[in-house]
Amino acid sequence: MLALENPPTPKPLAVRERRESANSGRSLKLGKQFDQRTFSVFPMPKLARKLKDDVAAIAIREGRVVGSPGHAKARRYLLGRMQELGVEPFRGNSFELPYTWGGDEFVNLAGAIPGASPSAKPVLIGAHYDSVIPAPCADDNAAAVAIALAAAEMLAKQKLPRDVVIAIFDAEEPWHFQEPSMGSIRFYHDQLRERGAHAALIMDLVGHDVLVPAEMLRSFPWLRWPAKLLPRIGDDLAVPGVRDLLFMTGAESHPGLADVVDSVRVPRRLRPIATLNRYVGDMSDHGVFRTNGVPCLFFSCGRWRHYHAESDTPDKLNYAKMARIARYLAAVAKALAATDLEPHDGASVDTAEFEIRRIRKACGPAFGLVMKWLRIEKLETRADISALAGKLLGMGL
Ligand SMILES: [Zn+2]
Repeated sequence: MLALENPPTPKPLAVRERRESANSGRSLKLGKQFDQRTFSVFPMPKLARKLKDDVAAIAIREGRVVGSPGHAKARRYLLGRMQELGVEPFRGNSFELPYTWGGDEFVNLAGAIPGASPSAKPVLIGAHYDSVIPAPCADDNAAAVAIALAAAEMLAKQKLPRDVVIAIFDAEEPWHFQEPSMGSIRFYHDQLRERGAHAALIMDLVGHDVLVPAEMLRSFPWLRWPAKLLPRIGDDLAVPGVRDLLFMTGAESHPGLADVVDSVRVPRRLRPIATLNRYVGDMSDHGVFRTNGVPCLFFSCGRWRHYHAESDTPDKLNYAKMARIARYLAAVAKALAATDLEPHDGASVDTAEFEIRRIRKACGPAFGLVMKWLRIEKLETRADISALAGKLLGMGL
């Protein structure tokens, strides 16, 4: 059909020339494929069970609204887990990084996995732990916090060239969202300070299957019977392939990010799709990093009907998918830790080709069918990707 029908096979990273970093003279260590199977000492079923236990402990019925007893209870649990994981306090001798704003008290949590070069900027993995309402809010954001802990545990067993910091932010939800009291904003400006970050990997809403509302299939009578065979979560259907999607925005924030992402092997039955951050905006804690020029990737399974609702409960999450995300995230963090990203002014780079390649890969043999279903004629240009993003967002994702 077009150039991208048969994309030029990129040279395997193993045989790519080692490039010299302009500023430091150190070579870029893009020498090998970063394989999530490095972490196979943590078998998937065991990882999934651990994630489930963590979500159960964090997603308590009373919720984690800032300043509430549930918020303090969840934080106590997280402190205990961070002590167990083999990570060190990010600053001083406590994982707790308290701050006050407008007379209110907040607490970020941060731990560091030491790498070989303590003076190098760390790779940051971040997610918020507060909840929007006094309810479990399992997908928002207990799931991401559990995944961050699992990634920390896996990375603590690795030899890393630079530190990896696990930051569990307070106060992401309204009334703090994008306000000076927001946990990630205070972390970046007051707690991370001059150390800065090599890159930031931020997660929100990463515990659920990407679901298809049952009513969306009504206009396809020939699908009525096959649809009866699909697993149901409330009024939604878990369609094979679609349920495994993971959205990733922000690769455009640095010219080296797409290569790093491409160097990581994706776990089976996980389908990461890369799109521009501007399609969805700074919907979570990545905003402060992105706007301050930190190379940044944001991971999410998108919104769903339980978003900010009392029905966002632990029983609706897919812990096997979360285990795949945890392994993938750990591998991306490890690949980033081993890569020198050259200084960049923060301007967006063109990632259209990368996005198209990732979308095709995520859809696999169903690519044609998906495009047909979404009534997208072709996927060749930025305008085509924008049309696709518009359709997906129109579905409420
Ligand atoms: Zn939220």
